[in-house]
Amino acid sequence: MQFLPELFANNREWAAQQAGRDPDFFDRLCAIQRPDHLWIGCSDSRVPANTIVGLAPGEVFVHRNVANIVRPDDPNCLSVVQYAVDVLRISHIIVCGHYRCGGIQAAMGPASAEPLEGWLAPVRSLCREHQDELAALADGERRWDRLCELSVRSQVRVLSRLPTIVNAWAAGRRLVIHGWIYDLHDGLLRDLEVSVDRPAP
Ligand SMILES: [Zn+2]
Repeated sequence: MQFLPELFANNREWAAQQAGRDPDFFDRLCAIQRPDHLWIGCSDSRVPANTIVGLAPGEVFVHRNVANIVRPDDPNCLSVVQYAVDVLRISHIIVCGHYRCGGIQAAMGPASAEPLEGWLAPVRSLCREHQDELAALADGERRWDRLCELSVRSQVRVLSRLPTIVNAWAAGRRLVIHGWIYDLHDGLLRDLEVSVDRPAP
């Protein structure tokens, strides 16, 4: 017996629609993958990369984890960045956080069980670093949202120091790292205006 038959039914319908609209669609995707964007986002089911920026399969290379964290000790994320920059030669890396992120909230509260607690350690540190700014905000929801923004900014900074990125810039490549945040309330993205396209001085 097949599990989750409705998902296979959905898939058959989707594949037929794609092929109906564009008979060469799958042949083109098989032949080459040439996205120009790397998306680093949260695993949250409400923030699907392709959907919210209206990009088709083949147009965005995606890495997602809990709370969209870039850690220099995470071979998974680092391999994605390396492949995107060195092989796919993408020009834009988008770190996209979102308000009301459960991972960020967990890093503000009591310790979680491992391995989640260890994973969230950089966000917990960031929360301590900005405790005065956060404490000055009116309520817990504003503090939570602000930490979501601060975390995106921090991930952009971490990315800009990774050897893969630094080497690409040194080789004269055009590569821009962006920090965005998505609002679950209205489905809109906001540019946090922390983009970088060169090494920090
Ligand atoms: Zn999240």
